[in-house]
Amino acid sequence: MRARRRVYIANTGGTIGMRRGPAGYAPAPGFLAEQLAELPAFRSPLLPEVVLNEHEPLLDSAYMTPEDWSRIARDIAANYEDFDGFVVAHGTDTMAYTASALPFMLEGLAKPVILTGSQVPLCELRNDAFENLLTAILIAADQPLPEVCVYFGGLLLRGCRTTKVHTQDFEAFASPNCPPLGRAGVAISIDWPRVRPAPPSGTTLRVVELGQPLVGALRLFPGIAAGVIRSMLLPPVAGLVLEAYGAGTGPGNDGAFLDAIREATAMGVAVVVTSQCLEGGTALGDYAASSCLADAGAVGGGDMTAEAALAKLRYLLSLGLPPGDVRRLIQVDLRGELSEGAASARLPQPLPATRREL
Ligand code: ASP
Repeated sequence: MRARRRVYIANTGGTIGMRRGPAGYAPAPGFLAEQLAELPAFRSPLLPEVVLNEHEPLLDSAYMTPEDWSRIARDIAANYEDFDGFVVAHGTDTMAYTASALPFMLEGLAKPVILTGSQVPLCELRNDAFENLLTAILIAADQPLPEVCVYFGGLLLRGCRTTKVHTQDFEAFASPNCPPLGRAGVAISIDWPRVRPAPPSGTTLRVVELGQPLVGALRLFPGIAAGVIRSMLLPPVAGLVLEAYGAGTGPGNDGAFLDAIREATAMGVAVVVTSQCLEGGTALGDYAASSCLADAGAVGGGDMTAEAALAKLRYLLSLGLPPGDVRRLIQVDLRGELSEGAASARLPQPLPATRREL
């Protein structure tokens, strides 16, 4: 008989295990474990063996920083050999950021890492926490996905493609430019051809720390003053995700705005253009209003989400690559975050030999 599968749950906080207090819902130490111990389903022999590790402090995900991404990555790495799969219980508000960063940080990942959470805490009579957590555990145990995913509201999504799209619906996440990797209805079905290949056997997991490069994000709006982007690009800023309009257009009729980008990129700052539209992506060069951003030195983020572009930028800058390589690799799919050929018209150049493994 097959040995019972083992799943490690890292509880980082979030609504799933929150309790209502005087100021609203907030994390409560020990509360999730206490409730799970009361639920017959979590004592079922049909469930894999589950170990729950509560992070300290538990956080509303709005309080999270890249330091917390590192804490999660290190926790998974420390327990990697002893478990078949991993579940990260996480707040929904910044789950897409964590789910975008972890694929870059967990190099050589060959086991499932499933982020989940809920819109309504487990302690409420009617909630989505029970189903999300239970199904995430079953996926982590039984589906050999070598990827970081989000499981939420019946959908299994590639983590670095996700974005939170609803504050009220139980289907709170989408991956607009990447079809779901799986669905949980009556049965759990995985679309295996869409799943990324596992790394060669014998590959060990390595945590890539994201370091301290200063990166920012700026959403364009009509009437934005050039001084706003100039101040966002001041040293020691090393990278900026510019959330532009449509296929990557911006106020190219404002010379001071373009000068701010031109001067920063000349100093080695990476400016990545993403789209405010959920679907599609950037195509710098389709319009004069986007060519001007490319001419000033910005690169297109293709169909990456702004969350993925931010995480990837931080990752590439942490590797200490020269600015030209950062700009080039932004336009190359590394972890499934970008569709083939979706980056800007300025096609990537061949990688330097030493970086080919990227
Ligand atoms: N504010 C909560 C959090 O992100 C929301 C949630 O989990 O749904 O931690």
